[in-house]
Amino acid sequence: MDATIPTRQPIVIPRAEHNISRSQISPNALKVLYRLRSAGFRACLVGGGVRDLLLGREPKDFDVATDAHPEEVHRLFRNCRLIGRRFRLAHVQFGQEIIEVATFRAMQMVGDDEEGLGPVLDENGRIISDNVYGTIEDDAWRRDFTINALYYDIESFAVLDYANGMEDLRNGVIRLIGEPEQRYREDPVRMLRAVRFAAKLGFRLHPSTEAPIASLGHLLRDIPPARLFDEVLKLFMGGQAESTFELLRHYRLFGHLFPATEHCLAYQKDHYPRTLLVKALRNTDDRITDGKPVTPYFLYAALLWEPLKLRLGQLLAAGMTEQEATELAAEQVIDEQVRHTAIPKRYSQPMKEIWALQPRFTQTGGRRPLKLLGHPRFRAGYDFLLLRAACGEVEPKLAEWWTRFQDADEDGREAMLRADKEGGAKTRRRSRRPRKRRPVAASGVE
Ligand code: ATP
Ligand code: MG
Repeated sequence: MDATIPTRQPIVIPRAEHNISRSQISPNALKVLYRLRSAGFRACLVGGGVRDLLLGREPKDFDVATDAHPEEVHRLFRNCRLIGRRFRLAHVQFGQEIIEVATFRAMQMVGDDEEGLGPVLDENGRIISDNVYGTIEDDAWRRDFTINALYYDIESFAVLDYANGMEDLRNGVIRLIGEPEQRYREDPVRMLRAVRFAAKLGFRLHPSTEAPIASLGHLLRDIPPARLFDEVLKLFMGGQAESTFELLRHYRLFGHLFPATEHCLAYQKDHYPRTLLVKALRNTDDRITDGKPVTPYFLYAALLWEPLKLRLGQLLAAGMTEQEATELAAEQVIDEQVRHTAIPKRYSQPMKEIWALQPRFTQTGGRRPLKLLGHPRFRAGYDFLLLRAACGEVEPKLAEWWTRFQDADEDGREAMLRADKEGGAKTRRRSRRPRKRRPVAASGVE
């Protein structure tokens, strides 16, 4: 039997032979499953929720699949909204938690969201329209990976395995259902999903799932930037940003998401441009592990820092003032990036501010540091300065000065500013010393 073609008859893993207990499932998801069931419908948990529970991990969310049509789901739940026009889904809302309820579908799909389109294909084999309901077997077939096509049936508490997902789960294998090249062509984002799950779960790609990626990465260029923005957040804000980045580069996918950054990584070997980015990704992972918030704009500021420095250097060399050049470089780098992954204004504005604050940190005398401390983006700018210091872009003393300045009380700050005025701060003294101007191209923006 070909393991990648779902069988009509699933392998049934009875309750006694798997580890999913109802106590691990969100009470709201259980409510939805039970109500569908008592109204006479089939109802299963599916996707990441089942996969993660089987692995003993805490699921991010719980998705429900049912044979009830969206309108029927809507009638059963007062707190229910139907979303998507061509790809209808029911969202049942319980306070902050949303349980997504999807009707079993036939054929392939692009995603469980409003952008989701269906089984009519374009000239590249990409799906461009769909809303065909089907049986649970059809539904298993249209899913991406075998480990994502496991169903937890609320009627029997059994796990239903149509695509040999249990075996792949045991062996740590990410394997596409069906013919790999065709499945990537239908929806190229599956290449990113393969990498994301490999990094998240510590799994490896099955050779047949891995092989086509080298020649199909370019198909990502046709995906709407808004969808790629969402995917980028999932890639880098899931707690495994560093290993995800390494894998994306390994499979040559990173350059299709961030071409300008890839260019810097590939051609500026002597400047070690990976360092700041990798440190930023590592920090992001650590913060997520510690339960601290992470912001997309900080991540994007780090992802595009090398292209920004490159452009800034060119504009300065062309004779612009530092302020003009910084503003224009930021505009240009962001304009270029949004052709690939969207960056909503609420993120691009703070990114520009983080960048624009960087030169202001070199001024440690007079009243300016106090003004900078009051800037709404001070904290993010300072964190970015620490990153730059950690990879040798700025003097560690400068970063230390700002750390002490922040922690000091009012008198302490005044003393530091005075000391600096009297020539006490070493960083300032250094920058006052006349020095030969090095050509911009060789020295970067520092
Ligand atoms: P997580 O939520 O942990 O990121 P997940 O597997 O639940 O992982 P979702 O994006 O929430 O991923 O999607 C839920 C399920 O929908 C998947 O497990 C998969 O079965 C199916 N799915 C999602 N996107 C696609 C796609 N592009 N192609 C085919 N099936 C998909
Ligand atoms: Mg999910």
